Amino acid sequence: MTTELGWGVAVVAASLFALPQPPSVAVAAAPARCVGGQKDSRGRSAVDGHEVRWEDETKFNNAFRHANKAWSTHGLTQVKLRPDDASSIADLQWQDVNSTREKWKNVLGQYASGPGADTLYLNRAYLDSGKRYGDDMYRRMVAAHELGHALGFCHKSPSWYPTLMAKDLEDVPTNALPADKDRSNYHKLWG
Ligand SMILES: [Zn+2]
Repeated sequence: MTTELGWGVAVVAASLFALPQPPSVAVAAAPARCVGGQKDSRGRSAVDGHEVRWEDETKFNNAFRHANKAWSTHGLTQVKLRPDDASSIADLQWQDVNSTREKWKNVLGQYASGPGADTLYLNRAYLDSGKRYGDDMYRRMVAAHELGHALGFCHKSPSWYPTLMAKDLEDVPTNALPADKDRSNYHKLWG
């Protein structure tokens, strides 16, 4: 059985009209390669400048806090993860969904980019207490993986190296932390 950690890019039209970004001098190395021939990408992220302003509407507070900490400590400080406030525009909305139908079948979480704020979904149908993955260990794994997508990281094969960005939950480290290569990939992308 595989349970996917979805990566849906719902709307990308806005990026078609965006001005090209000036070359960054901070990035010394090329972004890491991903499953399917893609590469990690700043453009395919929720990062605005060097920060993500989040809006928290998920009930899974433990997983939410863990994911933000996992991607903002121990040297991963180039992208600031901050709450949205009255003077800012949200870049990423954390939101719950409760569905096993169609695209949500066996999908525990998803990052979707949008014309406004991007959305990070956690699926209550699998993560609620009493459900198949209804405990904080799994919730943390899903939340940290999806926040990785929001930071521009695409899927890596667990056959290459241990990685939080494996597509299937069973291949994600149970500590729900970026692995060594995830950390070096972060620095390749964000300096
Ligand atoms: Zn994923």
